[in-house]
Amino acid sequence: MQSLTVLGATGSIGGSTLDVVARHPDRYRVFALSGRERLDRLAELCARFAPRFAAVHDEKAADRLRADLRAAGCATEVLHGAGALTEIAAHDEVDTVMAAIVGAAGLEPTLAAARRGKRILLANKEALVMAGPVFVAAARDNGATLLPIDSEHNAVFQCLPPATQADARMLDAGGVRRILLTASGGPFRRATLEQMRAATPEQACAHPNWEMGRKISVDSATMMNKGLELIEARLLFGVPPERIEIVVHPQSVIHSLVEYLDGSMLAQLGNPDMRTPIAHALAYPERIASGVAPLDLAAIARLDFEAPDTQRFPCLALARDALASGGGPCVLNAANEIAVDAFLQRRIAFTEIARVVARVLDTLGATPAPVDLGAVLALDARARALARECLSRTVA
Ligand code: NAD
Ligand code: MG
Repeated sequence: MQSLTVLGATGSIGGSTLDVVARHPDRYRVFALSGRERLDRLAELCARFAPRFAAVHDEKAADRLRADLRAAGCATEVLHGAGALTEIAAHDEVDTVMAAIVGAAGLEPTLAAARRGKRILLANKEALVMAGPVFVAAARDNGATLLPIDSEHNAVFQCLPPATQADARMLDAGGVRRILLTASGGPFRRATLEQMRAATPEQACAHPNWEMGRKISVDSATMMNKGLELIEARLLFGVPPERIEIVVHPQSVIHSLVEYLDGSMLAQLGNPDMRTPIAHALAYPERIASGVAPLDLAAIARLDFEAPDTQRFPCLALARDALASGGGPCVLNAANEIAVDAFLQRRIAFTEIARVVARVLDTLGATPAPVDLGAVLALDARARALARECLSRTVA
């Protein structure tokens, strides 16, 4: 029986995780859940899964949730405040942590879980990108297991030779030549620059193949999501960036590929449903049912591929540039979070997101890699402040 904490339980990945967990009550026990918004949903989840703890943002939210739980006769204890997420992620009784908070807010609890040697199911790519080597070293030095949830990285993990899954230094010995990350191309794959300039948050969030939270949906529309995933692949698998290629595959059926020296390419295929990578990581190295329907290849009929258009999607190149220096990924991620938020609040145009990120990278991109959590948070704060400054100029 694995004891599980779900950080970000009220979100898209959190919901898919609990859907898989509910199918296997003999294998998983929910120890704790967290959520920032949608407290009614969190109350429902507590009533259904009876976790020992629920963690929310502040005292007001905690009071409201406690009242809801009391009315439902649910004994879950409600925690709040800065330390609450870390407490439920690093608790002695927890085996596995699903890291499904969006953005930098997920870093500290996920890092705490790594330091306590937990099994971490990593959806929160921003935490890995911003803290990079600090995060990877914390996991390695404390015996934590990092299992990728991002569908591309989960696919790569499944296609790598088994020795590489445990030790990235085995890539060459295992005959791996390249990693190919597939990208759907997002809702603006065929849009003109004019159309992209006028795009609304609703259009940007209407992803053709996946239902996701708003931030990652915008990242998919700018293709910054693929840029973040390039950095994520570099960190998770130890592959140099020049050996990671991005290929647009609009059907989102092939989730990614590994190319070997002998010319073989191994791919992982499946319906675009995050319950597949979640079930894979929950049960690894075993396999469990996820509730996802099998692929109907004849109905899909064809698989298309094209090279990404770097003119309309400059974020891809920005992410590659960011990898040139140690601090670049942290700066890129922070500036992007601020710019995406401003776009979602209709303060800047869609095409301004890449410009804000480029300007912040120009100024701070050459910063060396932060050496510890304090330095990561300081660089993140500097990049956010600079991005806000760029925004005030853009908006004025
Ligand atoms: P979402 O917006 O649906 O959910 C985010 C969760 O984080 C919610 O529970 C929310 O309450 C919580 N949260 C948000 N801000 C918070 C804060 N400041 N402090 C504490 N909690 C906070 O997002 P999602 O689509 O589920 O994505 C979650 C993560 O998984 C992201 O990092 C995303 O990049 C990654 N991911 C998602 C998908 C997907 O299909 N949705 C696929 C691959 C990777
Ligand atoms: Mg992905």
